Amino acid sequence: MLSKVSIGKHCCAASTNLENYRPLVGDEIIDEIQTLANQLKGVRICHLNSTANGGGVAELLSRYLPLVQALGVSAEWRLIHGQPEFFTVTKAFHNGLQGGHYDLRDPEHDLYLDANEQSAKLMSTEYDVFIVHDPQPVAIRHFSGPRNAKWIWRCHIDSSAPDPSVSAFLTPFIQEYDAFIFTMPGFLLPSLPKNKAHFIAPAIEPMATKNMDLPLDVCKRAVADSGMALTRPILLQVSRFDPWKDPLGVIQAYRLVKEEIPGVQLALIGAMAGDDPEGWALLEKVEEEAANDSDIFIFTNLGGVGSMEVNVFQRACDVVIQKSLREGFGLVVSEALWKEKPIIAGKTGGIPMQVPKGFEHNLVDTIEGCAERILHLLKHSGERGDYGRAGREHVRRNFLLPRLVRDELQLINSLI
Ligand code: UDP
Repeated sequence: MLSKVSIGKHCCAASTNLENYRPLVGDEIIDEIQTLANQLKGVRICHLNSTANGGGVAELLSRYLPLVQALGVSAEWRLIHGQPEFFTVTKAFHNGLQGGHYDLRDPEHDLYLDANEQSAKLMSTEYDVFIVHDPQPVAIRHFSGPRNAKWIWRCHIDSSAPDPSVSAFLTPFIQEYDAFIFTMPGFLLPSLPKNKAHFIAPAIEPMATKNMDLPLDVCKRAVADSGMALTRPILLQVSRFDPWKDPLGVIQAYRLVKEEIPGVQLALIGAMAGDDPEGWALLEKVEEEAANDSDIFIFTNLGGVGSMEVNVFQRACDVVIQKSLREGFGLVVSEALWKEKPIIAGKTGGIPMQVPKGFEHNLVDTIEGCAERILHLLKHSGERGDYGRAGREHVRRNFLLPRLVRDELQLINSLI
């Protein structure tokens, strides 16, 4: 029921030296991180979540932990496991925290609590700090009994307007934690005390294969190999197949663009996350919707799309779309901007904070608005360049991995 994720030396080897980041983020933050890490020598930290693949949390942990370990901090990553029914319930909790309606019933309570209790029994006692991510494992703290450890709940979801039954069920378990981290103050679950809340935004790893520099001509060749025409505009959305990411809305916006620019093409890249059972049904709908259009290309991790391919497509496309209706943070927004790619994105959750000042008009609420902004950018290449460059600088200052490591190590230091 509980397994350890191996994040061996093969993972992001280039990133495992803090010094590599000095030219990107400056001396002050690097020195600060080193001091914080030295203060944490001997402290054993455990991150706990429910999937090692797909989605932003797995992405973050796989980048963050090698760097923290390279600093000499003892940090490990453990996964809770569950049957598919468990993940159906936890995805409903995820949706409920984001404001979706959910009629929570007793059998679902029981199933959720049983899985958490089983995992808690198997949990090693050898840690000083537990950082538990999102709702799937939240009750583990409750079932772990009195342990001489600090517990932090890291919520990646905008929980400001939750479904009342989900909030009422989860709140007592969350209140047992010593601290909660939300991405921004506006995301705090209203039933939680403010004095234990901390606000830390996620970040991207600039040296990961997903974000490292790649020659544009190589990226273009790889995209051409996938069947897309380089002589015609390419739009891209990279997202799990999740209703909140609105892939069907993206197709509608693309169709409006196509009325004016018939050659436009759309690539939808979507990983199937291990803890997101909703993805399969939506993928089927998206495939149906795209069936008669040879200019829509759908790629999934099942077909071999991985980190490098995401990088390649983000660099080779003309405009990135992230038409989320709700969003925790949306790592893909920073990933695109870091590559100086203009992005049209939903005005929701953690997305606006990632868009540089002066370019907020690229945040959209509707399909028509999304299509209008795409058309505008496709017709104004100079504006695409200005937006991309401003985006990269904004990400460099605010959303690169060292800032996240500094903020989290500071919080851990303050708790122990
Ligand atoms: N991602 C990927 N392959 C895909 C789809 C997504 O590698 O086919 C990555 C994406 O690049 C990003 C993460 O998964 O790093 C998704 O994080 P985000 O915060 O955007 O969304 P979440 O899935 O956590 O809601």
